[in-house]
Amino acid sequence: MEYGFIEYEKDLENQELKSTQSVVQKAINWFRSHSMFVLAYGTGCGAIEMPPTFTSRYDIERLGVVGVATPRQADILIVSGYCSPKTLKRVIRSYEQMIEPKYVIALGSCTINGGMYWDSYNTIKQLDNYIPVDMFVNGCMPKPEALIEGFVSLQKNILDDTKEAGWQKYKNNYEYYFENQKKLFKKNITPSFQEDFLGVNG
Ligand code: SF4
Repeated sequence: MEYGFIEYEKDLENQELKSTQSVVQKAINWFRSHSMFVLAYGTGCGAIEMPPTFTSRYDIERLGVVGVATPRQADILIVSGYCSPKTLKRVIRSYEQMIEPKYVIALGSCTINGGMYWDSYNTIKQLDNYIPVDMFVNGCMPKPEALIEGFVSLQKNILDDTKEAGWQKYKNNYEYYFENQKKLFKKNITPSFQEDFLGVNG
């Protein structure tokens, strides 16, 4: 009986611990989803829609979204349109410098399937072949309302952390992304961030 009683007490403690962890995790996810630091960086014409989204006209700061100047402070990267290989290199390097957890919003049709540049020789067609994308916002060009909707959907995904986020995909499938990057850049491949700065083979 005594043994059973002790087991029961332990079970109770474990349950309390589990519920505490889940409350703590919920709180962390809520704070994370409502303090989104966006790298002030734009590619393509979609960048034109970002200033009204971030200033008084739409004031996205109401949702906890603010702009920051450097990748090391940022946790959201918006790729706001078409990318030439030259631009993509900078996008990848900026993404790799960001601290985890980090998320990518791909803004505009060009990032999904090439958009109006689908047969262009010098732009990429699918951004998520090179870095993981957490939220696509389609349109050409997507209006600030669409971008705000994208942020709200991303917030919901961050609150529900059961799905694999893009930064986890990048870590778990790094070879896949790096192979695609190598195919595109050929001998001009930039060494991975880990190799370059940390002396670790990526
Ligand atoms: S989707 Fe349209 S607006 Fe956006 S970068 Fe491409 S062409 Fe420009």
